[in-house]
Amino acid sequence: VAKVARKLAKAGAKVESAAVLGAGIMGGGIAYQSASKGTRIVMKDIAEKALDLGLAEADKLLVKRVERGKLTAAAMADVLTRIRPTLSYGDFKAVDLAVEAVVENEQVKKAVLAEVEGQVREDAILASNTSTISITSLAEGLRRPENFCGMHFFNPVHKMPLVEVIRGRKSGERAVATTVGYALAMGKTPIVVNDCPGFLVNRVLFPYFAGFIMLVNEGVDFQRIDKVMEKFGWPMGPAYLLDVVGIDTAHHADAVMAKAFPDRMAHEGRTAIEAMFELKRFGQKNGKGFYAYV
Ligand code: NAD
Repeated sequence: VAKVARKLAKAGAKVESAAVLGAGIMGGGIAYQSASKGTRIVMKDIAEKALDLGLAEADKLLVKRVERGKLTAAAMADVLTRIRPTLSYGDFKAVDLAVEAVVENEQVKKAVLAEVEGQVREDAILASNTSTISITSLAEGLRRPENFCGMHFFNPVHKMPLVEVIRGRKSGERAVATTVGYALAMGKTPIVVNDCPGFLVNRVLFPYFAGFIMLVNEGVDFQRIDKVMEKFGWPMGPAYLLDVVGIDTAHHADAVMAKAFPDRMAHEGRTAIEAMFELKRFGQKNGKGFYAYV
């Protein structure tokens, strides 16, 4: 995969300076990963508090590496200087690629992408980290849709090696190649996929969750399913994975996938995901999901 990606990246531009829109779980992770691997990144949000949280998260990860002897204090300081938090578009003319990682709302994303397009150079690449929205639809409001594609990271960004680079109907080869090159520079394994609901990973993952839901509805204990999957050799079972992903995120993605692929996602009655969602058991993010976290 890496060999194919490296070959593909040759047709792209080198990303010396990047930007990320949104300093949340994903935006903060993207900023940390980019800076750790040597690429400067501007991290923009609309809330000062979000910027502080994004930076604090990067700081926490770096301190851990210093404590483990994997990074010197000087190198840590160096990484932090490569992240520039901001509430304005002041630095965007220097940016080669900007990743949008704001809330999962089509209207908000479209507005942010159009705004960013007006701030960056004409040759800059825009990418979206959306999990469920069509890249072709997100490109609709753009003046240069050929410079836009998907760049879908997984949570937590610093741990998960895969990045899906999504080719929308109007995405140009230079946009795809540049994004692949940036993912490689971040130490990730990029794969190029077409634009369809769930892209590749969620298209495989959610029918798997549907199988899990079916078993739970038939009365099988979810902890038993998790144990069996772990014995089978998977790093974690479906219930624990749903807690890691976030029940609210999974609830939204499940609805998108069920609409797109009703035959593969069929389950009778209320699902365990719906039940957890209604109980506001959102998983590890709020300390309770299928399991309780203290
Ligand atoms: P989040 O809620 O943690 O962060 C979103 C951030 O965007 C917030 O800090 C918010 O202040 C900011 N924001 C909102 N409007 C903005 C604007 N106009 N300009 C700049 N910043 C703005 O969300 P998240 O979990 O990081 O998800 C972000 C995106 O990544 C979503 O599209 C989501 O679907 C996708 N994603 C999430 C995960 C995950 O597991 N959390 C995994 C892959 C992809």
